[in-house]
Amino acid sequence: MDASTPGAARAHSADRVLLGLDIGGTKISCLVVDEQGRTLARDSVTAPVREGGSVVADAAAELALRLTAGAPLLAAGVGAAGVIDHESGSIRAASATFVDWVGFPLAAELSARLDAPVAVENDVNAFLLGEAAGEGGDVLGVMLGTGVGGAVIIDGELRRGPHGAAGEIGHTPGYGDLICTCGQVGHLETLASGTSIALRYAERSGVVLPDAREVAVRARSGDAHAIAVFFAAGRALGLACASAATLLDLPAAIVGGGVSHAWDLLRHGVDDALRTDAPVSGIPLDIRPARLGGDAVALGAIESARRAVLVPAY
Ligand SMILES: [Zn+2]
Repeated sequence: MDASTPGAARAHSADRVLLGLDIGGTKISCLVVDEQGRTLARDSVTAPVREGGSVVADAAAELALRLTAGAPLLAAGVGAAGVIDHESGSIRAASATFVDWVGFPLAAELSARLDAPVAVENDVNAFLLGEAAGEGGDVLGVMLGTGVGGAVIIDGELRRGPHGAAGEIGHTPGYGDLICTCGQVGHLETLASGTSIALRYAERSGVVLPDAREVAVRARSGDAHAIAVFFAAGRALGLACASAATLLDLPAAIVGGGVSHAWDLLRHGVDDALRTDAPVSGIPLDIRPARLGGDAVALGAIESARRAVLVPAY
């Protein structure tokens, strides 16, 4: 099977497979791989997040079963938005976009539908697991999307924290006096999320654009306000990465999410922050854009399933 074929390619029924699901606010993506990690099939469907947890689980399972096409499923991993309770595989906290999602036993519900073990991971944690595969043991992940998420791998393992809430770099303070989506003031997210980039541009220029992508188009054509907004976002991102790296001796930070596609614009601010505020250890901090694009969360979810479910036998 051609792994590069887009759309609803299917696995061969003889292969033993693993699958990764990326459950986001707008779509559910699924990737099926063989035991060597080669991609066999992929597709995505609209995520019915306003219809409740079990409807989302139905849609995810239907997509997964269609793509595995009867091949024996070793395990499934899920990267899902929200704070995950890793003991139960349920959702502990989530944004209001997801109706009836908090408390939903996602791992158990999907496991029953797929007849296979299921590991559930926070989507930003899964992103970093996917991106950091083959990386050294210590790395920060930052996702610049509608909001700003973060994750940390230390000694090769995700650092989730006692409440599953580690890595929330988007809601660390000290980046100005703007009100954050969480209600507090001056968080990284007020400068570096896609939503914020569009808002900051509108404040400076008086022009309301639909999203950060449009601001990036203007910046690339020389619009000084747009360039300044991306510089501020990049500099705040660089400072946040330098703070985390200084605290934890992290040599690298990987930046993903939709806004990272404007790395040509962000990197000027990132480089400026590394010039003025590099970690005092003197150890170089490598801040770089993600490389897996839309596959990172699903691939990381598969890695999470390998680690959680398959390691003893794998
Ligand atoms: Zn905040």
